Amino acid sequence: MKEKPRDLTQQVYDWELSLGLFLWARDIPADKQLTMDECKAIVVDACTLSQSPPPHHVSEERYWTDRYCAWCDHTSRCLGFPEDTRQPAIVLHEVAHLVTRHGHDAVFVEKYIALLDVFNIRPRWELEATAHEYGIL
Ligand SMILES: [Zn+2]
Repeated sequence: MKEKPRDLTQQVYDWELSLGLFLWARDIPADKQLTMDECKAIVVDACTLSQSPPPHHVSEERYWTDRYCAWCDHTSRCLGFPEDTRQPAIVLHEVAHLVTRHGHDAVFVEKYIALLDVFNIRPRWELEATAHEYGIL
């Protein structure tokens, strides 16, 4: 029987924070956020690069009423980027969920790193080295 990939949610979040891949909502100046069109353009490019069909819909709605996080719904193949989540690394994080159909595990991290590298957010060597330190790769 194949072993279920280990859930690394907290480690992935800690790793992202340590790298400063994105800013928390309260720290983002309004003019530093992407527009929904810019988010959608990154989604389409990242899906094409990943040889994956684009999502059915990219929403600006919240998924959870009490939280502002970006989200990926595998059943409907929809991504969401509510206000304060529209930053390149966050968009790529959700695309990595969409194309791998994985949660926060090593398969997801590998894809996320590949996208962060291709989109020039951070170089692959730095991402891989730090991901190993956090035990997520
Ligand atoms: Zn995630």
